[in-house]
Amino acid sequence: MTRAFNFSAGPATLPESVLRQAQAEMLEWNGAGASIVEMSHRGPEFMAVAAQAEADLRTLMSIPDDYAVMFLAGGATTQQALLALNFAAPGQTCDYVVNGHWGKTAIKQVGHYVNPHVAASSEAGGFHDIPARSSWQLSPDAAFVHITANETIHGVEFRDTPDVGNVPLFADFSSSIASEPIDVSRYGLIYAGAQKNLGPVGVSVVIVRRDLLERAGQPRADIFNYRSHVARDSMLNTPPTWNWYLAGLMFQWMLAQGGVQEFARRNATKAALVYDAIDTSSGFYRNEVVPAVRSRMNIPFFLPDDTLTARFVSESKAAGLLALKGHKAVGGIRASLYNAMPVEGAQALVAFMRDFQQRNG
Ligand code: PMP
Repeated sequence: MTRAFNFSAGPATLPESVLRQAQAEMLEWNGAGASIVEMSHRGPEFMAVAAQAEADLRTLMSIPDDYAVMFLAGGATTQQALLALNFAAPGQTCDYVVNGHWGKTAIKQVGHYVNPHVAASSEAGGFHDIPARSSWQLSPDAAFVHITANETIHGVEFRDTPDVGNVPLFADFSSSIASEPIDVSRYGLIYAGAQKNLGPVGVSVVIVRRDLLERAGQPRADIFNYRSHVARDSMLNTPPTWNWYLAGLMFQWMLAQGGVQEFARRNATKAALVYDAIDTSSGFYRNEVVPAVRSRMNIPFFLPDDTLTARFVSESKAAGLLALKGHKAVGGIRASLYNAMPVEGAQALVAFMRDFQQRNG
């Protein structure tokens, strides 16, 4: 069996050792006589798995005690809607800074509940940059300021946590969570779908400063109430146990590899390799993002024409480099380099890029 290097943007590659452990435990988990996915979420076995996963994520991301952590069914898009229901009064203004596709998606989820205000956007320039902090038109009475820490499609990443004053900063970290050390205490809330850096699709992680849970929000079913989920340790209803378990294996793997400091180092190395191949290609490959905010997780780039792009996609796949076709919204090529992508994967991609250019340039 040969596992290819998989550059998928999500669901994305997982470490072979994690998949092997899940495989080994599939029929019987830890002498329990059954698989972990066949057991009650309220039984001692799964409760231990769940608690360990939360403890490991807290260690991995240095999450302070005054923050609650939830493991919830539903993707990042679901959380985008729940942010408005849980933390804003009906019709209240919520500020959004938009630097790509997912920031726009976040706004689309909340229009029925609140007044989303675009405080700044780089759309006019094609989402190649993050609007300068000095240009943001923040509302003093906003419920929160929402940013997308890493735009998965446009390949634009915040390199610093912006200062937004007293209004809590909410951030979509779906495609860059645990990719480097961050100061969680600078955020009111962090959320992420798991399917890029944390494991399999089907569970989302929400990290929220506990005092914000006191907010009334607006009328909502209990199942949409974060406060209820926190009170019941994310077991208000049956949680996605398999996904939670696999995310737990990912946290252990990341800690064993050296934690977020080590992943920051590896991610910088991988990204530098690919951006260097683009920047030294004499224009054969193009990435249009302003260098200071280029994403280390998702690198979109373009070839001179569609014929070459199609050839690049099919030949790279044949060479064992999977899922390099760009998102349909922007076209071209996209290489996603999440934590589970080894440096060797980036090296193999760069070798392929150089060879492809030599044959077609
Ligand atoms: N935000 C970001 C940054 C994403 O990359 C994605 C998925 N690619 C989403 C939100 C939407 O996530 P989901 O499909 O889990 O709802």
